[in-house]
Amino acid sequence: MLIAGNWKMNGDPRDLSEFTRMVARAPEVRSAVALVVCPPAVMLQKSVERATVSPLTVGAQDCHFAASGAHTGDLSAEMIASCGAEYVIVGHSERRTDHGETDEIVSRKALAAQRAGLTAIVCIGETEAQRDAGEADQVVTSQLNGSIADAVDPGRLVIAYEPVWAIGTGRTPSTADVAAIHGSIRRWLDDRFGTVAGVPVLYGGSVKPGNAHELLAVENVDGALVGGASLKADDFIAIALAATAVLEARA
Ligand code: PEP
Repeated sequence: MLIAGNWKMNGDPRDLSEFTRMVARAPEVRSAVALVVCPPAVMLQKSVERATVSPLTVGAQDCHFAASGAHTGDLSAEMIASCGAEYVIVGHSERRTDHGETDEIVSRKALAAQRAGLTAIVCIGETEAQRDAGEADQVVTSQLNGSIADAVDPGRLVIAYEPVWAIGTGRTPSTADVAAIHGSIRRWLDDRFGTVAGVPVLYGGSVKPGNAHELLAVENVDGALVGGASLKADDFIAIALAATAVLEARA
């Protein structure tokens, strides 16, 4: 299992107290549950330093697909790797919406992440209108086709299924709906990379300590991408402990 926290545009590099609490509590979580925190870029370096010798690792929230050049305001995957980060989220729905990122751009970013030695967490998910129109499965498949290039290394790939309408709203799909989409994503990954590839598929969208166990226990859910609830160490660790409990029940 993998529990990844997306801090979005929250946090202050002068105050690492919450992050430090996460680092301190990370050893409570079973080692089969990997913990990743993705703070804003200005906190990457300090967070990596604070997490040295901790089981918790650090990721970024976006990267450019170029290694360097005239791209004002952007960061390359190589720059992120040079801070000691190990993961980068690409194609989050907020970036797809706020910055017009297409599947083609997301695909190039995922390849760039891997070029730099990072693991790419590729986000996909339907809007509410698409779900209401019965198109969720089709949209997710089309995003996978467009965002995951043939050259992608499945060993450095994570998929995060995040229904756009569930992000930050307190609403979640039913467990049956999560199971259906995760089943489709798993079949797509098996077709592309073979059944042994083991690419983790995370669920994301309003995961909280109160619903984490139920969502993480769904078949083909290999972890969670957590926004709001990842800002508090106690909530983030509670979600990771729910993952531990799910694994123990499966054993
Ligand atoms: C996210 O933005 O990736 C996310 C899952 O947010 P939240 O948990 O706040 O819904």
